[in-house]
Amino acid sequence: MKTIAVAGAAGFIGSNLCERLLKEGSAVIGIDNFASSSRKNIDFLSEFGNFSFLEHNVQEPLEIKENVSQLYNCASPASPVDFAKIPIEILMTNSLGIKNLLDFCLEKKARFLQTSTSEVYGDPLVHPQKESYFGNVNPIGERACYDESKRFAEALIMSYRRKYNLEVRIARIFNTYGPRMRKDDGRVVPTFIGQALSNKPITVFGKGKQTRSFCFVSDQVDGLVKLMNSGFAGPVNIGNPVEITMIELAEKIISLSGSKSEIVFRPLLHSDDPRKRKPDISLAKEKLGWAPEVPWQEGIKKTIAWFREN
Ligand code: UDP
Repeated sequence: MKTIAVAGAAGFIGSNLCERLLKEGSAVIGIDNFASSSRKNIDFLSEFGNFSFLEHNVQEPLEIKENVSQLYNCASPASPVDFAKIPIEILMTNSLGIKNLLDFCLEKKARFLQTSTSEVYGDPLVHPQKESYFGNVNPIGERACYDESKRFAEALIMSYRRKYNLEVRIARIFNTYGPRMRKDDGRVVPTFIGQALSNKPITVFGKGKQTRSFCFVSDQVDGLVKLMNSGFAGPVNIGNPVEITMIELAEKIISLSGSKSEIVFRPLLHSDDPRKRKPDISLAKEKLGWAPEVPWQEGIKKTIAWFREN
């Protein structure tokens, strides 16, 4: 049986990933400090016999006695609301924290997978975004704590690969949604669903013409597992290339939830809010044989159902 460590196990993507790995029969050691995640997700995972949990801040060196062969790093606050609240925490998690996890993998001879982000492309001037695009990031803007630390992380990881021959994998995750997102996370999908289910106004920021491409979490997790077990280091985009505007998203959520909500317009949270985002996933198709399968209407329906129950 493989023993796999997941940093950020109590978070949205981390907990869905742990569930998948446990169902496949691996032993999973979850690591989290609950900076932006929920203990409920750990309670749920504890129902699996092969799950163990370590409350730990990755900014401290990681020590585990088990023979870990793979480590997935999903430990980072990722909501623009967090960027304003805990920017320094985010910068340190994605720099010092990653160094600690890389050193741990060196010692264990474990393979390291980083959940990087489409935010490394910033407000992109190239559309759709290919991995070869270097990005358009404001290094001192309100999103910089996240964007720049994730860029630093990629540089650090590739340096460990070059200098120490460490086995690394880098996934650039595009907007992902689904069950176990935090309701008050501030990100657009849980916010709109929460507003729709309570018949409150749907707050579209700016003119609502900005686009995103939303990937259902089971597809995302599948991409991460395929990348980890492939022979390809990446970076590789993992996302759903179906691109929609925020107005389209609001309208779809209103209609699928049967809500009486109206759309209202509010100022953009950050001036650096990317105007468009869509992954080119040719590389993931070619190297991993991966492409998303869940159409967004179906994924949104499942997510609405989950928020209703929870
Ligand atoms: N957004 C919105 N209303 C909200 C929350 C977000 O219109 O209540 C917009 C936001 O301005 C952005 C898009 O939705 O253009 C996606 O935002 P999110 O915070 O989910 O993630 P991002 O892709 O910006 O990191």
